[in-house]
Amino acid sequence: METHNEMYDVVIVGGGAAGLSAALVLGRARRRVLVIDGGAPRNAPAAHMQGFLSRDGMPPAELLAAGRAEVTGYGVEIADDHVQTIEPGFIVRLAGGRVSIARRILVATGVGDELPDIAGVRERWGKDLLHCPYCHGWEVRDEPLGVLGTHPMSVLHAQLVRQWSADVTYFVHTNDLNASEQAQLEARDIRIVRGEVARLVIDDDHLTGVELTDGQVIPRTAVFIRPGNLPHPDGLLAGLGCELDAAGFVTVDATWQTSTPGVWAAGNVVDPRAQVITSAGAGSAAAIAINADLVQDDVARAMRHHDTAKVASPAASAATND
Ligand SMILES: Cc1cc2nc3c(=O)[nH]c(=O)nc-3n(C[C@H](O)[C@H](O)[C@H](O)COP(=O)(O)OP(=O)(O)OC[C@H]3O[C@@H](n4cnc5c(N)ncnc54)[C@H](O)[C@@H]3O)c2cc1C
Repeated sequence: METHNEMYDVVIVGGGAAGLSAALVLGRARRRVLVIDGGAPRNAPAAHMQGFLSRDGMPPAELLAAGRAEVTGYGVEIADDHVQTIEPGFIVRLAGGRVSIARRILVATGVGDELPDIAGVRERWGKDLLHCPYCHGWEVRDEPLGVLGTHPMSVLHAQLVRQWSADVTYFVHTNDLNASEQAQLEARDIRIVRGEVARLVIDDDHLTGVELTDGQVIPRTAVFIRPGNLPHPDGLLAGLGCELDAAGFVTVDATWQTSTPGVWAAGNVVDPRAQVITSAGAGSAAAIAINADLVQDDVARAMRHHDTAKVASPAASAATND
């Protein structure tokens, strides 16, 4: 097993939109940067990425390939590997055996989506089983849409999806409605279907309907869910002592710095609602803050060196002061 002990100004964990945008800024700031990426960005199941100004509709993998080419052009190194642990100091250990030392850390590892255990959901995720109307709503506008009641926020999600189509069916599934939710759905002509959902009906690689456990099939061409989100499952930030909020997400200041000095976090790992463009923006802003922090550290180091040189050679320093 190969082992390096290389020193970097910044190690970035995660090479999605947030991590690569940070790498671009730091590479252009002439910092020595390593990006370590596990190669599983959140939107990989989707064929197209929407809502990124000037890149609307681009395949997600194309954006990342372009980003990788840009950052390596500024000398940033990319390791296709998985970070297992980060120890204070910072010592970064990779699954492949490599060990790197970093002055600063940026964690941009994204977030996991918790999907309901309904037949067809995993297979159609990012295709016609969708979660984000801002990402996919336009593409299915005016179609017969469904929303599955799998989450406490599902009713609100149905009200949001209604913005894109007048034909929305809310499947109560296991998430009972209260009187006010029912009235609000009815007020906006959202059809309510009671009964447990058994599976998504797929025909010729397209979703065609939602089947209930009693066998009834309601034709739909796309279905939305509100997934739960799994914050940073590898526990890297918690391991570094970073403060987490009640939902388990890391807390950051306005510059995306965590409560642990020297550790920043950006993108979906901080906010599961962040889009690609906002994750990229967060990565960029974090990188500027990290570079400013490194400059302060560079000044402190230079002053220490300067003072030591004066103590070592008092005559020279006295001559200079004349
Ligand atoms: C199906 C779907 C479709 C979407 N469509 C859109 C869309 O059209 N438009 C839009 O704006 N947003 C869309 N999104 C949201 C989008 O995916 C996120 O906004 C974006 O991916 C967040 O970027 P990120 O850099 O924070 O995380 P990610 O893109 O998820 O990147 C995180 C990277 O970190 C790596 N990683 C994780 N842990 C480790 C580790 N321990 N060591 C090394 N590497 C690690 C992962 O492998 C991954 O490559 C969609 C989401 C989903 C689920």
